Amino acid sequence: MSTILALPPVARRVVELREQVKAWRNAGLKVALVPTMGALHEGHLTLVRAALEYADKVVVSIFVNPTQFGPTEDFDAYPRTLDADRANLATAGAALVYAPTVAEMYPDGFATAITVSGVSEGLCGDLRPGHFSGVATVVTKFLVQAMPDVAAFGEKDYQQLQVIRRLVRDLDIPVTILGVPTVREADGLARSSRNAYLSAESRKVAPALYRTLQDTAAAIRAGAAVDTALEAGKRAILAAGFASVDYLELRAADGLAPLSDLDRPARILVAAYLGKTRLIDNIAV
Ligand code: AMP
Repeated sequence: MSTILALPPVARRVVELREQVKAWRNAGLKVALVPTMGALHEGHLTLVRAALEYADKVVVSIFVNPTQFGPTEDFDAYPRTLDADRANLATAGAALVYAPTVAEMYPDGFATAITVSGVSEGLCGDLRPGHFSGVATVVTKFLVQAMPDVAAFGEKDYQQLQVIRRLVRDLDIPVTILGVPTVREADGLARSSRNAYLSAESRKVAPALYRTLQDTAAAIRAGAAVDTALEAGKRAILAAGFASVDYLELRAADGLAPLSDLDRPARILVAAYLGKTRLIDNIAV
Protein backbone atom coordinates (compact mmCIF):
# COMPACT_ATOMS: atom_id res chain seq x y z
CA MET A 1 0.00 0.00 0.00
CA SER A 2 1.47 3.37 -0.93
CA THR A 3 1.06 6.38 1.31
CA ILE A 4 0.53 9.86 -0.07
CA LEU A 5 2.63 12.29 1.91
CA ALA A 6 1.31 15.80 2.47
CA LEU A 7 3.57 18.43 0.91
CA PRO A 8 5.10 20.78 3.46
CA PRO A 9 3.40 24.20 3.34
CA VAL A 10 5.32 27.16 1.93
CA ALA A 11 5.76 30.39 3.92
CA ARG A 12 6.62 33.42 1.78
CA ARG A 13 6.72 36.04 4.53
CA VAL A 14 8.85 36.44 7.64
CA VAL A 15 5.68 36.91 9.74
CA GLU A 16 4.28 33.56 8.59
CA LEU A 17 7.56 31.84 9.45
CA ARG A 18 7.66 33.47 12.88
CA GLU A 19 4.03 32.57 13.63
CA GLN A 20 4.61 28.91 12.84
CA VAL A 21 7.86 28.73 14.81
CA LYS A 22 6.18 30.44 17.78
CA ALA A 23 3.31 27.94 17.72
CA TRP A 24 5.79 25.04 17.78
CA ARG A 25 7.73 26.63 20.62
CA ASN A 26 4.56 27.16 22.63
CA ALA A 27 3.88 23.44 22.17
CA GLY A 28 7.32 22.70 23.64
CA LEU A 29 8.83 21.54 20.32
CA LYS A 30 12.44 22.01 19.18
CA VAL A 31 12.98 23.67 15.82
CA ALA A 32 15.77 23.23 13.24
CA LEU A 33 16.59 25.28 10.16
CA VAL A 34 18.24 23.96 6.98
CA PRO A 35 19.15 26.84 4.62
CA THR A 36 19.33 25.90 0.92
CA MET A 37 19.11 27.42 -2.54
CA GLY A 38 16.73 24.67 -3.70
CA ALA A 39 17.27 22.21 -6.58
CA LEU A 40 17.38 19.76 -3.72
CA HIS A 41 19.27 16.47 -3.90
CA GLU A 42 20.25 13.72 -1.51
CA GLY A 43 22.84 15.99 0.17
CA HIS A 44 20.16 18.46 1.23
CA LEU A 45 17.79 15.68 2.32
CA THR A 46 20.55 14.22 4.49
CA LEU A 47 20.80 17.61 6.25
CA VAL A 48 17.05 17.44 6.95
CA ARG A 49 17.34 13.92 8.38
CA ALA A 50 20.35 14.93 10.48
CA ALA A 51 18.44 17.97 11.80
CA LEU A 52 15.50 15.73 12.74
CA GLU A 53 17.78 13.93 15.20
CA TYR A 54 18.06 17.19 17.15
CA ALA A 55 14.67 18.81 16.58
CA ASP A 56 10.98 17.96 16.28
CA LYS A 57 10.28 20.32 13.38
CA VAL A 58 12.57 21.16 10.47
CA VAL A 59 12.17 24.33 8.40
CA VAL A 60 13.96 24.29 5.03
CA SER A 61 14.61 27.67 3.50
CA ILE A 62 14.78 27.79 -0.29
CA PHE A 63 16.19 31.07 -1.51
CA VAL A 64 18.54 31.71 -4.42
CA ASN A 65 20.36 34.56 -2.75
CA PRO A 66 21.39 37.20 -5.31
CA THR A 67 23.98 38.81 -3.04
CA GLN A 68 26.22 35.72 -2.94
CA PHE A 69 26.54 35.52 -6.75
CA GLY A 70 29.18 37.55 -8.60
CA PRO A 71 28.16 39.63 -11.65
CA THR A 72 29.39 36.95 -14.07
CA GLU A 73 28.06 33.97 -12.07
CA ASP A 74 25.01 31.76 -12.63
CA PHE A 75 22.28 33.53 -10.59
CA ASP A 76 19.78 33.59 -13.49
CA ALA A 77 20.62 30.09 -14.70
CA TYR A 78 20.56 28.53 -11.21
CA PRO A 79 17.94 25.72 -11.24
CA ARG A 80 14.61 26.52 -9.53
CA THR A 81 12.47 23.43 -8.89
CA LEU A 82 10.09 24.26 -6.01
CA ASP A 83 7.44 21.57 -6.73
CA ALA A 84 9.97 18.75 -6.92
CA ASP A 85 11.76 20.17 -3.87
CA ARG A 86 8.55 20.08 -1.80
CA ALA A 87 7.87 16.47 -2.81
CA ASN A 88 11.41 15.47 -1.77
CA LEU A 89 11.09 17.38 1.49
CA ALA A 90 7.85 15.56 2.28
CA THR A 91 9.66 12.23 2.11
CA ALA A 92 12.55 13.55 4.23
CA GLY A 93 10.13 14.78 6.92
CA ALA A 94 10.49 18.57 6.69
CA ALA A 95 7.60 20.48 8.29
CA LEU A 96 7.80 23.83 6.50
CA VAL A 97 9.39 25.40 3.43
CA TYR A 98 10.40 29.02 3.85
CA ALA A 99 10.72 30.55 0.36
CA PRO A 100 10.80 34.33 0.68
CA THR A 101 10.97 36.65 -2.33
CA VAL A 102 14.05 38.79 -2.93
CA ALA A 103 11.95 41.87 -1.96
CA GLU A 104 10.98 40.21 1.35
CA MET A 105 14.64 39.55 2.20
CA TYR A 106 16.07 42.81 0.82
CA PRO A 107 13.39 45.51 0.97
CA ASP A 108 14.11 48.93 -0.53
CA GLY A 109 16.78 50.68 1.46
CA PHE A 110 18.41 47.48 2.74
CA ALA A 111 21.92 48.59 3.76
CA THR A 112 23.49 46.06 6.15
CA ALA A 113 26.19 43.47 5.47
CA ILE A 114 27.92 40.95 7.73
CA THR A 115 31.60 40.42 6.92
CA VAL A 116 33.54 37.66 8.65
CA SER A 117 37.26 38.34 8.27
CA GLY A 118 39.92 35.61 8.46
CA VAL A 119 37.99 32.48 7.48
CA SER A 120 36.34 34.28 4.54
CA GLU A 121 39.75 35.13 3.09
CA GLY A 122 41.66 32.90 0.66
CA LEU A 123 40.24 29.83 -1.14
CA CYS A 124 36.77 30.69 -2.54
CA GLY A 125 36.88 34.07 -0.76
CA ASP A 126 39.60 35.41 -3.06
CA LEU A 127 38.05 34.03 -6.24
CA ARG A 128 34.45 35.02 -5.48
CA PRO A 129 34.69 38.56 -4.03
CA GLY A 130 31.68 39.39 -1.87
CA HIS A 131 30.45 35.78 -1.86
CA PHE A 132 30.96 35.03 1.84
CA SER A 133 29.64 38.41 2.92
CA GLY A 134 26.48 37.59 0.92
CA VAL A 135 26.29 34.17 2.59
CA ALA A 136 27.01 35.52 6.09
CA THR A 137 24.38 38.24 5.75
CA VAL A 138 21.62 35.98 4.44
CA VAL A 139 22.34 33.22 6.98
CA THR A 140 22.34 35.76 9.82
CA LYS A 141 18.95 37.01 8.60
CA PHE A 142 17.56 33.46 8.41
CA LEU A 143 18.80 32.68 11.93
CA VAL A 144 17.25 35.86 13.34
CA GLN A 145 14.03 35.31 11.40
CA ALA A 146 13.54 31.68 12.46
CA MET A 147 15.43 31.64 15.80
CA PRO A 148 15.97 27.87 15.49
CA ASP A 149 17.54 25.68 18.20
CA VAL A 150 19.70 23.99 15.57
CA ALA A 151 20.82 24.85 12.03
CA ALA A 152 22.40 22.26 9.71
CA PHE A 153 25.04 22.94 7.04
CA GLY A 154 27.06 20.62 4.78
CA GLU A 155 30.80 20.02 5.03
CA LYS A 156 30.66 20.05 1.21
CA ASP A 157 30.92 23.85 1.55
CA TYR A 158 33.59 23.66 4.23
CA GLN A 159 34.73 27.28 4.14
CA GLN A 160 31.09 28.41 4.35
CA LEU A 161 30.58 26.16 7.41
CA GLN A 162 33.61 27.78 9.07
CA VAL A 163 32.30 31.27 8.26
CA ILE A 164 28.95 30.41 9.84
CA ARG A 165 30.47 28.85 12.97
CA ARG A 166 32.56 32.02 13.41
CA LEU A 167 29.68 34.48 12.95
CA VAL A 168 27.38 32.56 15.31
CA ARG A 169 30.09 32.67 17.98
CA ASP A 170 30.96 36.31 17.34
CA LEU A 171 27.36 37.55 17.33
CA ASP A 172 26.22 35.35 20.27
CA ILE A 173 23.42 33.85 18.20
CA PRO A 174 21.85 31.15 20.40
CA VAL A 175 21.86 28.26 17.91
CA THR A 176 23.75 24.98 17.64
CA ILE A 177 25.45 24.59 14.26
CA LEU A 178 25.45 21.06 12.94
CA GLY A 179 28.10 20.18 10.28
CA VAL A 180 27.00 17.24 8.13
CA PRO A 181 29.48 15.06 6.13
CA THR A 182 29.40 15.33 2.33
CA VAL A 183 26.98 13.06 0.48
CA ARG A 184 28.54 11.59 -2.69
CA GLU A 185 27.52 9.73 -5.82
CA ALA A 186 28.60 6.06 -6.06
CA ASP A 187 31.72 7.15 -7.99
CA GLY A 188 32.72 9.68 -5.32
CA LEU A 189 31.52 12.92 -6.95
CA ALA A 190 30.09 15.22 -4.26
CA ARG A 191 26.37 15.80 -4.80
CA SER A 192 25.74 19.36 -5.98
CA SER A 193 22.91 21.24 -7.67
CA ARG A 194 25.55 22.43 -10.17
CA ASN A 195 26.31 18.84 -11.29
CA ALA A 196 23.19 19.26 -13.47
CA TYR A 197 25.28 21.60 -15.65
CA LEU A 198 27.76 18.83 -16.57
CA SER A 199 27.66 17.22 -20.04
CA ALA A 200 27.69 13.41 -20.18
CA GLU A 201 31.36 13.60 -21.13
CA SER A 202 32.27 15.93 -18.23
CA ARG A 203 30.26 13.83 -15.79
CA LYS A 204 32.67 10.94 -16.50
CA VAL A 205 35.68 13.15 -15.74
CA ALA A 206 34.21 14.75 -12.58
CA PRO A 207 35.04 11.98 -10.02
CA ALA A 208 38.75 12.69 -10.65
CA LEU A 209 38.39 15.60 -8.23
CA TYR A 210 37.55 13.38 -5.24
CA ARG A 211 40.08 10.73 -6.33
CA THR A 212 42.78 13.39 -6.39
CA LEU A 213 41.80 14.62 -2.92
CA GLN A 214 42.11 11.06 -1.63
CA ASP A 215 45.45 10.44 -3.37
CA THR A 216 46.85 13.77 -2.16
CA ALA A 217 45.70 13.12 1.41
CA ALA A 218 47.27 9.65 1.31
CA ALA A 219 50.57 11.06 0.03
CA ILE A 220 50.67 13.73 2.76
CA ARG A 221 49.76 11.20 5.45
CA ALA A 222 52.56 8.97 4.18
CA GLY A 223 55.02 11.83 4.70
CA ALA A 224 55.26 13.49 1.26
CA ALA A 225 56.19 17.19 1.29
CA VAL A 226 52.91 19.13 1.29
CA ASP A 227 53.85 21.47 -1.60
CA THR A 228 55.01 18.60 -3.79
CA ALA A 229 51.86 16.57 -3.10
CA LEU A 230 49.61 19.55 -3.87
CA GLU A 231 51.45 20.31 -7.13
CA ALA A 232 51.11 16.66 -8.18
CA GLY A 233 47.41 16.83 -7.32
CA LYS A 234 46.86 19.90 -9.51
CA ARG A 235 48.62 18.20 -12.42
CA ALA A 236 46.42 15.10 -11.96
CA ILE A 237 43.22 17.19 -12.04
CA LEU A 238 44.28 18.89 -15.28
CA ALA A 239 45.43 15.58 -16.81
CA ALA A 240 42.01 14.08 -16.04
CA GLY A 241 40.36 16.72 -18.24
CA PHE A 242 39.56 19.69 -16.00
CA ALA A 243 40.05 23.09 -17.67
CA SER A 244 41.73 24.83 -14.72
CA VAL A 245 42.35 24.57 -10.98
CA ASP A 246 41.39 27.58 -8.82
CA TYR A 247 43.11 26.10 -5.76
CA LEU A 248 44.18 22.86 -4.10
CA GLU A 249 45.30 23.62 -0.56
CA LEU A 250 45.98 22.11 2.85
CA ARG A 251 44.33 24.11 5.64
CA ALA A 252 43.73 23.69 9.38
CA ALA A 253 40.37 21.95 9.87
CA ASP A 254 39.47 24.46 12.56
CA GLY A 255 39.90 28.06 11.36
CA LEU A 256 41.43 27.28 7.94
CA ALA A 257 44.97 28.60 8.60
CA PRO A 258 47.27 27.61 5.68
CA LEU A 259 49.48 24.63 6.60
CA SER A 260 52.81 23.59 5.15
CA ASP A 261 53.07 20.56 7.49
CA LEU A 262 50.50 18.13 8.78
CA ASP A 263 50.90 19.24 12.40
CA ARG A 264 47.18 19.31 13.35
CA PRO A 265 43.81 18.09 12.06
CA ALA A 266 43.63 19.34 8.48
CA ARG A 267 41.48 19.53 5.42
CA ILE A 268 42.42 19.51 1.73
CA LEU A 269 40.15 21.82 -0.25
CA VAL A 270 39.84 22.10 -4.01
CA ALA A 271 38.00 24.19 -6.61
CA ALA A 272 38.37 23.48 -10.33
CA TYR A 273 36.60 24.18 -13.59
CA LEU A 274 35.24 21.33 -15.66
CA GLY A 275 34.26 23.05 -18.87
CA LYS A 276 32.43 26.13 -17.60
CA THR A 277 31.22 24.46 -14.39
CA ARG A 278 33.09 25.21 -11.19
CA LEU A 279 33.20 22.24 -8.81
CA ILE A 280 34.41 22.32 -5.20
CA ASP A 281 35.18 19.52 -2.76
CA ASN A 282 37.21 18.84 0.39
CA ILE A 283 38.19 15.97 2.68
CA ALA A 284 39.74 15.53 6.10
CA VAL A 285 43.41 14.58 6.34
P1 AMP B 1 23.10 24.89 -1.49
O1 AMP B 1 21.65 24.68 -1.80
O2 AMP B 1 24.01 24.31 -2.50
O3 AMP B 1 23.41 26.29 -1.10
O4 AMP B 1 23.37 24.02 -0.19
C1 AMP B 1 22.56 24.12 0.94
C2 AMP B 1 23.18 23.31 2.06
O5 AMP B 1 23.31 21.95 1.64
C3 AMP B 1 24.58 23.78 2.44
O6 AMP B 1 24.74 23.69 3.84
C4 AMP B 1 25.45 22.79 1.72
O7 AMP B 1 26.72 22.63 2.32
C5 AMP B 1 24.64 21.53 1.84
N1 AMP B 1 25.03 20.55 0.82
C6 AMP B 1 25.07 20.75 -0.52
N2 AMP B 1 25.55 19.64 -1.12
C7 AMP B 1 25.81 18.74 -0.14
C8 AMP B 1 26.33 17.41 -0.13
N3 AMP B 1 26.68 16.78 -1.25
N4 AMP B 1 26.47 16.80 1.06
C9 AMP B 1 26.13 17.43 2.21
N5 AMP B 1 25.63 18.67 2.26
C10 AMP B 1 25.48 19.33 1.10
